[in-house]
Amino acid sequence: MISMADISTILSRYDENDIKIATVCSHSALQIFHGARMEGFATIGISTARNRPYYESFPIAKPDIFIEIDDYKDILNKDIQEKLMKENAIIIPHGSFVEYIGADNILEYLLVPMFGNRLTLLWEGDRRRQRRWFDEAGIPTPKVYDSPFEVDRRVIVKLHGAKGGSRYFTASNRYDLESKLQKLGYREGYVIEEYIAGVRYYPHFFLSPLGRPNIPGIGYGSLELLGIDRRLEVIDEVYRGWPDVIEDYLDFTVTGNQPVVLREKLLIDLLEIAVRLVSTSRKLFHPGLVGPFCIETIYNPKRGFIVFEVSARIVAGTNLYTSGSPYSVFYYNEPMSTGRRIAREIKKAIKEDKLETIIY
Ligand code: AMP
Repeated sequence: MISMADISTILSRYDENDIKIATVCSHSALQIFHGARMEGFATIGISTARNRPYYESFPIAKPDIFIEIDDYKDILNKDIQEKLMKENAIIIPHGSFVEYIGADNILEYLLVPMFGNRLTLLWEGDRRRQRRWFDEAGIPTPKVYDSPFEVDRRVIVKLHGAKGGSRYFTASNRYDLESKLQKLGYREGYVIEEYIAGVRYYPHFFLSPLGRPNIPGIGYGSLELLGIDRRLEVIDEVYRGWPDVIEDYLDFTVTGNQPVVLREKLLIDLLEIAVRLVSTSRKLFHPGLVGPFCIETIYNPKRGFIVFEVSARIVAGTNLYTSGSPYSVFYYNEPMSTGRRIAREIKKAIKEDKLETIIY
């Protein structure tokens, strides 16, 4: 595994007056480039030849430099990595970046300095580890069943490797589950989770290790809530098929995002959960969460917020707020997207000579 010391050495060779922000042209790249430009950074887009002209078509968000690749895994090739390091590039990881290259490959082979703590990849990508993190933080989560025989209520089944809710399915009880598993031929490679009824909220946070403590329990650094979204999944539209239940609607695939705000008194609960996740992350994988992260929650009025996942990087839902959100205005008197916030943190770190605290 590439160590923090390796990255610090590479970073020490960088020209701090010419740092460039780089990412793969996908997911939230336009927001990242746009935000970086607003903070005065030059940008590098890693793109396929097919995507390049489309990214070039956005005059204010297009990257300044393109690096063309045939396959996203080529980023790990020596020549591409050297090119990026020669440009003093800092990579901003987003969902597609991690998915295309693979968390293990990033940990083993990516020498280019990356914003945030790459150890989080080990914790967010593994459901068991993630569960340990939540348990140690004392955060309510859906019950997980080791075997179908233990199931005593409605459950949702998540296949390993299924992305964005695709191929998830629900079962109303143990017998329904057994018959569905048999019909689909699944013997292993899935998680059986209690199905939580409630309203989903996906708050976007930013943890700045360089900021002044602004919230109880944070220890060091500051925590900002930069926005909240709700993912639009096919099943959300199931009512459109009524009075019949159309099978195709029973699908949790994420297809888009919608802005939401939370009843204000519930914000406190959410902020408390975020602080606990941050503190525990620091104990489990020092320096813990750094930069953007999103908590995936379902609010059930009897049980409060139940957390079913954390994404420890910029999430696509932040694309709703490229010019700020109903929450970012409480921290900034200017349009502040998560992409811009990342660039601002890098700028501050350069100024204070603390880049290695936010880059690994
Ligand atoms: P995920 O891939 O874990 O982000 O989940 C995709 C979608 O599945 C979520 O946005 C929810 O709609 C649904 N989901 C996941 N876990 C649960 C749960 N425990 N109870 C109810 N719905 C869930």
